[in-house]
Amino acid sequence: MSLFDSPAFQGHESVQAFHDERTGLKTIIAVHSTARGPAAGGCRMWPYPSSEAALEDVLRLSRAMSYKNAMADLELGGGKSVIIGDSHTGKSPALFEAFGAAVEKVGGRYWAAEDVGTSPADMVHARKRTRFVAGLDGHDAASGDPSPVTAEGVFRGIVLAARRAFGGGLDGLTVAIQGVGHVGGFLAEKLHAAGAKLVVTDVNAEALRRVAEATGAEVVAPDAIFDCEAEVFAPCALGGAITLATLGRLKAKVIAGGANNQIATAEAGRRMFEKGLIYAPDYVINGGGITNVAAEIRALDRGERFDPLWVEAKLARLMQTLEEVFNRSVQEDRPTQVVADEMARARIAAV
Ligand code: NAD
Repeated sequence: MSLFDSPAFQGHESVQAFHDERTGLKTIIAVHSTARGPAAGGCRMWPYPSSEAALEDVLRLSRAMSYKNAMADLELGGGKSVIIGDSHTGKSPALFEAFGAAVEKVGGRYWAAEDVGTSPADMVHARKRTRFVAGLDGHDAASGDPSPVTAEGVFRGIVLAARRAFGGGLDGLTVAIQGVGHVGGFLAEKLHAAGAKLVVTDVNAEALRRVAEATGAEVVAPDAIFDCEAEVFAPCALGGAITLATLGRLKAKVIAGGANNQIATAEAGRRMFEKGLIYAPDYVINGGGITNVAAEIRALDRGERFDPLWVEAKLARLMQTLEEVFNRSVQEDRPTQVVADEMARARIAAV
């Protein structure tokens, strides 16, 4: 399928493919929109089975970043990059330097950061060839690990949704967390401190043990997370947790978690709404991480230090936006994810 015929192509401003013969780098950088500012989004390294699959992923992910950045009220557009390769065997400093050179050729219209398969350590090498890389440690503007900020946003979003659903705080409520990695692990600690009971699962036994020890959480097998007695379900693993099948099993009234792309199909999204569940759209509730990265981009641009107060103000604003999504969903009797998409498009069009 060609670029312009792909269903994932939705008015993207530019899509550039770069090849570096010396290192074998194959990367695609997609800029969906720069209407709100330079495009920002992570660099994913994945062993895509074909370049078509890589293209489709980068198109889809870059558009999602436009929506996420708009809903986080950032002066950033949406972009993403993918490197075709195996992150366990295919990484080298030279590969990421070549990636940095590719980012530089986009001329500041795209800022890269880490994502699935890449790390801040990889991005340090990219930074040798371009200044348009954020999410690093060790300089005055650096924002560090975005996961705690993502988890803080998700935590506040759960508080908000739970208040709407149950009329009170988290004390005594049970939250089921699927995936206790970076985001899920920090989230578990915050929920535990707020008095929630936890049921957790993960495919990584060590991560599970750490979180269970720290929070007293009940541990269940990965598939059993959909059957447990919990008022809130927080998907914090990979995408696609909400399907027709899992919706048939979940007892929770609230779905609010950090994972991207939680709704597997449009039909599952509709079913979730028909069942009267309160769903916090994934790319709204998990916008804390990109907000943290945005603070670094802002600081680098202005030659200033990283400003945690700016991040806090944006996080508070993000929660107002989430509240507005919930309110409009009720008023207009439409799913929250539909309302959020519409609001994101309006914010992009408004500038
Ligand atoms: P992570 O890799 O640290 O954690 C994910 C965890 O999920 C891992 O511990 C993994 O073992 C577990 N997992 C994978 N498959 C599972 C399954 N089938 N059942 C149960 N557990 C499973 O990643 P992360 O940084 O915590 O990100 C989690 C999610 O949040 C991802 O979808 C990511 O895209 C999204 N997200 C992360 C951030 C961030 O700041 N890190 C920001 C926005 C969105």
